[in-house]
Amino acid sequence: MSIEDKQGSAGMDDLYSLLKSKLNTVEIEGNTLYVAEGDTLLDLDQLRIYADVREQEIKTQEARNRADEAGFGATRLDEAPRGLIASTKNGKIVRWKPGAVLTYRVARDSFGSDAQYQLVVSSMHEATKAWEQTCGVNFEHRQVLDTRPGMGLEGLLFVVRAFDAGGKFIASSFFPSDPVERRRVLIDPSYFTTSFDKVGVLRHELGHVLGFRHEHIRNEAPPVCPNEPLWDTKVLTMYDPTSVMHYFCGGVGSNELKISALDRKGAQQVYGPPLAAAALVEAEA
Ligand SMILES: [Zn+2]
Repeated sequence: MSIEDKQGSAGMDDLYSLLKSKLNTVEIEGNTLYVAEGDTLLDLDQLRIYADVREQEIKTQEARNRADEAGFGATRLDEAPRGLIASTKNGKIVRWKPGAVLTYRVARDSFGSDAQYQLVVSSMHEATKAWEQTCGVNFEHRQVLDTRPGMGLEGLLFVVRAFDAGGKFIASSFFPSDPVERRRVLIDPSYFTTSFDKVGVLRHELGHVLGFRHEHIRNEAPPVCPNEPLWDTKVLTMYDPTSVMHYFCGGVGSNELKISALDRKGAQQVYGPPLAAAALVEAEA
């Protein structure tokens, strides 16, 4: 694919307008959010920043491609290994404070049946345990608050709730840098019929909650699902298919979304080793 093709008729300068017109949206509690990368929800301010960043990434890659094509490309030793990409703010990694208890409830009211609620509860338990065994984080399900009416946080860090997004995503979550009112894991009805591993989907969503992004910062990776207009299917093979943060969209096919060895390495760079394994042995003086 040539650089000209990549820019397309709309032109990359206009990525914000393009995304604004092409991306699916969901309405939640009176706010319109744009669905990027399959499960990432952005408000308009975030979409603008997102488009700016994506344009810069694409331009950088084009410059690299031109250098490679001209025969003076360099081996990029400093490039991040495949696996986790941490979200950053002003160049610093955004994470929860070490030792923080990441509390949540599962809003019983929001689910259509007790079976669905129970499935989400048990899948959350398994998914949070997987992360606790991966790096130094501690999740806590305050189940006693599940039956509180409404979708409120009830003083907890986040709420897990059903939300009918019409299949625009299977599940969606938030980043540590998102505003407090966006701290929710949303479960679309398609979650209950998806071919993706149900615990795996939540492992992935909790990866976002911990501040990890999709591994998309390479080449012309588009910010939309394969069934959306901007997608170039060649890109899919560039992602690390073993990462739990592997790009996933509805209908891409079966995927277990397990935490890979590289994920573990990356997560421990941000959060340290699992707390259960971190007990210190005191040597005699
Ligand atoms: Zn995701």
